[in-house]
Amino acid sequence: MAERILPPCRSCGGTQLRPFLDLGVTPLADALVKPGLLDDDTFVEGFFPLEVAFCPECTLVQILEEVPAEKLFVENYLYFSSFSDHLLRHSREHALGLVGSRGLGPDSLVVEVASNDGYLLKNFAEVGVPVLGIDPAPEPAEAAVAAGVPTLQDFFGVELAERLVAEGKRADVIIANNVMAHVPDLNGFVGGFATLLKDDGVITVENPYVRDLIEHGEFDTVYHEHFCYYSCTAVDALVRRHGMFLNDVEYFPDLHGGTLRWWIGKQEHVSDTAQRFLAEERELGLTGYGYYADFAGRVEQIRADLLELLRGLKAQGKTIAAYGAAAKGSTLVNYVGIDTDLVDFVVDRNVHKQGFLMPGVHQPIRPVEALLEEQPDYVLVLAWNFLDEIARQQSEYLANGGRFIVPVPSPAIV
Ligand SMILES: [Zn+2]
Repeated sequence: MAERILPPCRSCGGTQLRPFLDLGVTPLADALVKPGLLDDDTFVEGFFPLEVAFCPECTLVQILEEVPAEKLFVENYLYFSSFSDHLLRHSREHALGLVGSRGLGPDSLVVEVASNDGYLLKNFAEVGVPVLGIDPAPEPAEAAVAAGVPTLQDFFGVELAERLVAEGKRADVIIANNVMAHVPDLNGFVGGFATLLKDDGVITVENPYVRDLIEHGEFDTVYHEHFCYYSCTAVDALVRRHGMFLNDVEYFPDLHGGTLRWWIGKQEHVSDTAQRFLAEERELGLTGYGYYADFAGRVEQIRADLLELLRGLKAQGKTIAAYGAAAKGSTLVNYVGIDTDLVDFVVDRNVHKQGFLMPGVHQPIRPVEALLEEQPDYVLVLAWNFLDEIARQQSEYLANGGRFIVPVPSPAIV
């Protein structure tokens, strides 16, 4: 058999990538299908391979395939940050904390990359700290400007950073939340940070933790828009390549299934906490292939168990709906093979998604009120990272006898 040629590592350029999870061929997770399109003979839904690999040189976990950016991000960008209460609270605390700890004022500049609809920056703007949002998606960027948050509709990288510096702009704080997984040119992105940041400035980056992905079986957080899955070790190697240091780490176990906040600066002041995270990753083996080797088998087990559970309920004549038309829901229903025979419809709070169909498996997406109208016996919680929030919202559905099913770390009725 001819040896497979794999792409180079997205971070270090190494050529020794070792694949460890193959999720098959799936549709783009955010490519919701417009109703009526299925009746159009010319409509072809795009399916792409989805495979995850480990880089033994810099430890970065990443997907192998690259779907062209224009297919990934433009047409179906329907996610607006402002829809999660938990996220809004978390962001506000971070903003106010930075204003205090960094002594930010009218002469400071806070830049956020992937600023979405301005949900985070408006906390700075409200206390008189100048802000600049950067986001390539037109609708959220326009919403941000309308809400009083100056926003450039553009992709961030060295080029844009140099342009801002030429205009006399340098950042005291750069924030990048839940975007670094989505960056096709990782070194251009982090190089842009180094260009734009003042010498005594600070960068905070939030992203899900690859350790949670592996330990909790969160395979559904893998999709084509998520190129990379980070450990502290991988981030440390990445920022050092650009003359910066991973100085501190915070961990939020309940945010998006386990989120890290990395504090990065141009001077080396590595905290005890950061050192502890790096040491723990070495001890647990995240820095070697062995840590990832049995993941595919565990994911296959989740698929088998979930199918058995859902088919058993259907055999008893039960009705099942699902909650959460986000990307991870799409990965899960498509990889597991949950079609309209098993789950009748999916609900989502986001009005921009309602009326569309799930990618690949084509359940209709309806408002959350549909759960009370239809009172399905079970709801498969695809947005399991918001389980507590959804349970509060749906207390009436639950009081009426409805039950939730969570898919990971192993399928269970809760
Ligand atoms: Zn690498």
